[in-house]
Amino acid sequence: MAAPRIALVSGANKGLGFEISRQLAAKGLTVVLTSRDVKKGEAATADLRRAGHSVDYYPMDVTDTGSVKRAHDHVARRYGRLDVLVNNAGIMLREDIDHPALEVSLEVVRKTFETNVLGHIIVSQIFIPLMKKNNYGRIVNLSSGLGTLSEMEGGYLGYRISKTALNALTRILAHETKGTGILVNSMCPGWCRTDMGGPDATRSVEEGAKTAVYLATLTDRKSVV
Ligand code: NAP
Repeated sequence: MAAPRIALVSGANKGLGFEISRQLAAKGLTVVLTSRDVKKGEAATADLRRAGHSVDYYPMDVTDTGSVKRAHDHVARRYGRLDVLVNNAGIMLREDIDHPALEVSLEVVRKTFETNVLGHIIVSQIFIPLMKKNNYGRIVNLSSGLGTLSEMEGGYLGYRISKTALNALTRILAHETKGTGILVNSMCPGWCRTDMGGPDATRSVEEGAKTAVYLATLTDRKSVV
């Protein structure tokens, strides 16, 4: 029997990251659940283990290069490879929601970029070489319709342009990894009932996680971008 695929999910202590981890583990993958808060991450991991899933925990703050390197070294030492990377961690700051672009502080935009864009660049730069060693990889970036240029409207300046940038990063990495067995895609989960989406959102986390799981487990050489 083939060894289970190894998947790492960022920001997986709650919301879509947790549900994506659950669905990947239910498909038989071994999931390295990561979070910036150790207590929350360990509690989420314990939940999944109680349900019988194969889940490992490691702390990872995507904005901290040292933390990402330590997570990489853990995965490289324990498994020797990484098959699936889900760049899920994300923030949408209150001030970004409450102010129009002309008024929102640069600090808010900078903070949002730090996590939603630079964080995923750091994680990609550190983990993709490990995927390349095995000539296989599925990378899924959690983007948002709010970042779609053709549907751009006012508001959410930091969040919107961070997701537009994440889409650009996805295409750049897809090109740079061509021919290596690695597929890089981004997707929007829809408006989901999480702490970020709020209780009025139209979709459940189970529905929101599905496309990410589909892209994380693509079996052929399709790339959506
Ligand atoms: P959420 O419930 O707020 O969860 C976000 C997760 O990201 C949390 O685990 C959070 O950790 C983590 N995180 C934030 N900064 C981090 C960092 N520096 N390092 C590591 N983890 C970090 O949000 P969600 O709704 O599940 O969203 C997940 C992804 O889907 C995001 O990228 C979001 O932009 C995208 N998305 C969501 C919706 C929606 O309607 N919900 C729609 C479109 C796209 P803490 O618990 O420590 O804060």
